[in-house]
Amino acid sequence: MSQDTDTDGDGTRVVRAGQPDPVAGQPFLPGPVFAAPYHLGQGERYYARYENPTLDAFEAALSTLEGGPAVVFPSGMAAISAVLLTALRPGDRVVVPSDGYFGTRVFVHEELARFDIRVLEVSTVDLDEVAGAGGLEGVALLLIESPSNPRLDVCNIEAVTEAAHDSGCLVAVDNTAATPLGQRPLELGADYSLAADTKALTGHSDVLLGHVAAHDAERATRVRAWRTRSGALPGPFEVWLAHRSLGTLDLRLDRQAANARALAHALVDHPAVSGLRYPGLPNDPAHDQFTRQMRRPLGLLSFELADAATVERFLTASRLAIAATSFGGLHTTVDRRAQWGGDRVSEGFIRVSCGCEDTADLVADFVAAADSLRSRP
Ligand SMILES: *Cc1c(COP(=O)(O)O)cnc(C)c1O
Repeated sequence: MSQDTDTDGDGTRVVRAGQPDPVAGQPFLPGPVFAAPYHLGQGERYYARYENPTLDAFEAALSTLEGGPAVVFPSGMAAISAVLLTALRPGDRVVVPSDGYFGTRVFVHEELARFDIRVLEVSTVDLDEVAGAGGLEGVALLLIESPSNPRLDVCNIEAVTEAAHDSGCLVAVDNTAATPLGQRPLELGADYSLAADTKALTGHSDVLLGHVAAHDAERATRVRAWRTRSGALPGPFEVWLAHRSLGTLDLRLDRQAANARALAHALVDHPAVSGLRYPGLPNDPAHDQFTRQMRRPLGLLSFELADAATVERFLTASRLAIAATSFGGLHTTVDRRAQWGGDRVSEGFIRVSCGCEDTADLVADFVAAADSLRSRP
């Protein structure tokens, strides 16, 4: 495998990550290997639940980007549940974000309670204080989501992790929003970095995928054993699609962030818009910590319109905003989070995931749609 160097920039790293050394007459990225059993013989491979070269190549790419061994899963939730189920024992306490991805809270409450695992919820903005005050004593695992989804709050991962480790608590970071180009949790001290690669990492709104990277090789081995034993493997075609998409990650994130920044500036003082959050704005509550911790800006922002009906009118007036949940794709999408019932947000709260459209087109479209809200329907 071609290795990246410290001096390579993000664009170079994602284009080369996990690619085989050049072989004359062979493709840059070999196609997906479809096999359940392999012919038995001299080779090591015998069954695809144990090994598949397409998965190996993508995992090599993720390991390079994360800075620790990576294991790929068929969804973000499969990655999160693999960490929870390998790191926790009956009677343990786990802390999850109260303002993070709601599927994680559903999983811990509905599936882990049976194993006598006690769940505490702490909001991302309170984590620094709770961890600093010894609030993680007796906690086996802390799951951080920073920036949090959907509000985009940020905690000091390095400080919280240090306090957690002092209390004997392991730390996993859900790095979905940032991707390893935006933030490397393992370098900030975390034991696990995990993500829903369904979102920005693959970025084309066409695959469900996730991964776990671990600081210590033994933890990655344990997660891999869990995957082999439980059978939670992605198909080779999805993994190949993800690897193919990875090469444009730097370009996509750049455009998405440029679009988010432009929309944030254009809408922050708009009379139809309130509570706009974009950590790249100097007066955003997350700005300082975001700037210290993150390697690049985000393509996400959130704001509030008056109510659910106003969001409907906004979507009808806009040409480029697509109503869809999920985020991080090529298309700009708007998600009215209250419709799902899992987040503590107002009826008119929306998360905007900026796509790769032209910035001027997107700003003109969003501003016109927001302007149209001032006239009554
Ligand atoms: C979407 C998401 C998940 C779950 O990912 P799936 O691929 O849908 O299972 C987990 N965490 C965060 C932050 C997410 O946004």
